[in-house]
Amino acid sequence: MLHANGSLLTVDVGDRTAETTNIDDELSEFIGGRGVSTKLAHDRIPFDADPLGPENRVYLASGPLQQSSMSFTGRMNMTGLSPLTDGLLSSNAGGYLSRNFIGTGHSVVEVAGESEELLAVHVTDEGVEFEEVPELEGATVPEVTEEMNERYGLESENLVSIGPAGENEVRFAAAMTYDERAFGRGGLGAILGSKNVKCLTFEGDSAPDIELPNEDVQMDVHRQAATSDDIFRRQGTTHLVQILNDNFSLPTRYFSEMSFEHAEKINGDRVEEKKYKKAACSVCAFACKLPTRDEATGLETEGPEFETVMAFGSNSEVGDIVEIMKSNQLCDDLGMDSISCGNTIAAYLASEDEFGNVELIHELIEKIAHREGVGDTLAEGIDRIHEDLGVENWTVKGMDFAAHDGRVVHGQGLSYAVANRGGDHMYSTMMIPEYNDVIPAEGTAGKADFLIDHENRNAVRDSAVLCQFGLGRVIEEDVFEALFDEPYEDILAVGDRVVNLERHFSNQRGRDASDDYLPYDLPDLESSIQEYYEHRGWTDDGIVPGDLVADFAQAD
Ligand code: SF4
Repeated sequence: MLHANGSLLTVDVGDRTAETTNIDDELSEFIGGRGVSTKLAHDRIPFDADPLGPENRVYLASGPLQQSSMSFTGRMNMTGLSPLTDGLLSSNAGGYLSRNFIGTGHSVVEVAGESEELLAVHVTDEGVEFEEVPELEGATVPEVTEEMNERYGLESENLVSIGPAGENEVRFAAAMTYDERAFGRGGLGAILGSKNVKCLTFEGDSAPDIELPNEDVQMDVHRQAATSDDIFRRQGTTHLVQILNDNFSLPTRYFSEMSFEHAEKINGDRVEEKKYKKAACSVCAFACKLPTRDEATGLETEGPEFETVMAFGSNSEVGDIVEIMKSNQLCDDLGMDSISCGNTIAAYLASEDEFGNVELIHELIEKIAHREGVGDTLAEGIDRIHEDLGVENWTVKGMDFAAHDGRVVHGQGLSYAVANRGGDHMYSTMMIPEYNDVIPAEGTAGKADFLIDHENRNAVRDSAVLCQFGLGRVIEEDVFEALFDEPYEDILAVGDRVVNLERHFSNQRGRDASDDYLPYDLPDLESSIQEYYEHRGWTDDGIVPGDLVADFAQAD
């Protein structure tokens, strides 16, 4: 099967050592990206590790397709033990990092240990250098880029960095690349902060040899991406704002309502009016990114995307796209997941009866990043603070919900309940076939197999590494088979291994069926969860039997 090539580079920032390891066996079984990172994290992070302690490790990994020139491959994966969910979590970001990363000759870079001084870690095809950067303490993400540019001529596309939020171990701090592209969900930036790593830089001309996949299929995907008239190419994900609002499924005022009276002021048309140029990720002709500018204030940002519009817009009762753009830009500069930051602020606004107070929202973003005053509490995320705030806990496994509301798309709700990543939509993207009437949105019964296939396919997506926006448009089963030169079933089996390893790790940390819940009722939810366990081969308690991972995981 097609898989990434290149060694594992382990960088211990405590000892300031670096060593390379041959991981050909792991790559052939787990492809790259999220797959191989999950395998390594499972085997190398102690099951009882503190997510913010030196024993946690974080993995940056490319997949095989980052060496192609096919659209939808301008992405990279990052994996670690999440400070937000307490489970293994992968996140992927676009931008232009991936091609610089593979130039170092490695397929995976593992960051271990904990430094006493704030560090910039420079990875090239000639080795690793550790640079103490105490002067960058508290620097924003663009300030780090500017400094690396002045010192070494490096650009934002060479960098993974954190802002003050990561340094202050905000549980939903993001690791940023290309200044505005986020390894967003789950607090991976806080892991770098706990290790005192301000930034990692990547540069080199030593991409490992790889036999690239079916050239004709690559070209066809690229051509379709370039010629598509899909609305995503004009409005990104924000065209969904109006569609979901019209269907009463746009979370509003901290999930208490399902439509927003000012949706037309923050929908895709309003974002498109602010868009001033096209933008993409490496080699991607689909070019769906959204550089926006408000001429009146001079404010520039990238996005906001749909989820950010929900969190800082309808969920916070803000009907002004420019104010949402500002929230988005603050999150990017300070290095935070805009979904979790917005939802957490929405929880606070609900508790204080302050919905719609944009000055307060912008002030809170700063306070969270710096852990000042109430920001120190909010930096812990909704799951840990909802009782103090006196609000409902709109999270699963510590992860606050995405905009695609499981109360409307019930299969997506089932997905939120059982997903190893909790309330995040990208884990299975079950909402897409439900929105498109491929399966009915109503009910959970009989959806377990469909969900398992989607989870497995998305784990392969993140291992390859492919962009979600190619899937279901251009990249269908036949394209997967052509790219990997394997039957689709065998490709999905890789995803199955990844999900099992994530779950097995969580089981060792005490997670079981009691963690698979929703804060609302859905038809047949309990029996559907049991059906999901059964079809995954797990016990009634949601435990992965040892023999299911024995062939590909190290012993417990
Ligand atoms: S579809 Fe959009 S997000 Fe995905 S790789 Fe292309 S430009 Fe980036």
